[in-house]
Amino acid sequence: MVGIGSGERDRDEAKATTEDAHAFDIRLLKKNGMLAPGNSFDCTWILGDWITLRIGVEVEQHLLVIKDIVTSIAGRPSSRRVVDQAVPFAATPCAYGGFRRWFRCQKCRRRVAVIYFRGDSLACRHCHELVYPSQRQRGGDRARDRAQKIRMRLGGSANLLLPFPEKPKWMRWRNYERLRVLELENHSYNLECLAAWITRRRRSQEKRA
Ligand SMILES: [Zn+2]
Repeated sequence: MVGIGSGERDRDEAKATTEDAHAFDIRLLKKNGMLAPGNSFDCTWILGDWITLRIGVEVEQHLLVIKDIVTSIAGRPSSRRVVDQAVPFAATPCAYGGFRRWFRCQKCRRRVAVIYFRGDSLACRHCHELVYPSQRQRGGDRARDRAQKIRMRLGGSANLLLPFPEKPKWMRWRNYERLRVLELENHSYNLECLAAWITRRRRSQEKRA
């Protein structure tokens, strides 16, 4: 009996976010005139400070096809992989004439404006089980709150930078150890979210620079 959120961690917290996948937004592709059949282009996906993926894309009459991926480490191409994953286009009529284009997720058949490439497959956000970064950030905040509650329950301060509180005399060792593990899990998860947030900020600053 621990009682502080052991089993209640939100499912969202464990999930990857939309930033852990490469997004193809059909509105942007259309706006930039990239959807003409026969067109081919490369997308760059920066995975970290050292690893960059170049995704080779081809547009067919009714399909967007990912042909291959070249991985570069520290700016040097190191491997090429043939992928050949395709997603069909769908269209719905607009109120004032013309058509609006969509992708048709091949897993759930949903019409979506954004399709994600991750783990060599193209699918919608739901099928890849991706959450938005803000959803995971909220999860990180909740994890911090839980870690603080555990410390306060042991008579300690909410400050996570201080050492973990000593075992109160009245508490059994088993319960104390369990709380300690739970605190560590939540605390680490909070730090992980914080690190992801810092990386995101840095990347968006780099984009602006
Ligand atoms: Zn789907």
